[in-house]
Amino acid sequence: MLCVLAHPDDVDFGAAGTVAGWVDAGLEVAYLLVTRGDAGGFDDTPREQMPIMREAEQRAAAAAVGVKQVEFLDGYRDGLLTPSIELRRDITAAIRRFRPDRVLTNSPLRRWDRIAGPSHPDHLAAGEATTCAVYPDARNPFTFTDLELEPWTVREIWYSGGPDPDHVVDITDAFPQKVAALRAHVSQTSHIPDFSDMIRARMAATAQAAGLPEGRLAEAFSVFSTA
Ligand SMILES: [Zn+2]
Repeated sequence: MLCVLAHPDDVDFGAAGTVAGWVDAGLEVAYLLVTRGDAGGFDDTPREQMPIMREAEQRAAAAAVGVKQVEFLDGYRDGLLTPSIELRRDITAAIRRFRPDRVLTNSPLRRWDRIAGPSHPDHLAAGEATTCAVYPDARNPFTFTDLELEPWTVREIWYSGGPDPDHVVDITDAFPQKVAALRAHVSQTSHIPDFSDMIRARMAATAQAAGLPEGRLAEAFSVFSTA
């Protein structure tokens, strides 16, 4: 499994409970972060400190759900992401190295009912570039030949944060791990009052919308075969 997300914290808000379940089931999961979230934060931390701090936070959050491999791309600025050929090439390189069956990424589709948050343009750009890397780039032996890596076909793609999700994962058991992962993003979450309750309410609403029994918590995705 390879999770490719625009910012530190994206994977944790959208999918940390699901990832914890995958790790628990013995699946190998790696994170690839496109930016270090240098435009994030809510206090007067010196801006040059932010990417360093957020990289450390993402590594701690990964540890909270048992993910050991965390990589960051260089050269991409938070807030300025586009689905460029360079980004497609960098994600293709990661796919060819990790050789995942499944890729999880930000949705490339905008949610008109939630422009703020899920539909951040960096999310759309990371989702689009990752989709292009899954198909056709990574599997095409005549694309990015200079990488000198064998082509690889990803079999399934999971989108987080998009409109009309069609797949829910019950994360009730992994909820404490999800909260721990989110709390590791101190610069992003420590200012939010009743944080755990807020996340619980969100996950409960997702579970309820999917028809899960009362008291269950869930994360939602759009899942497609890419084989
Ligand atoms: Zn984000």
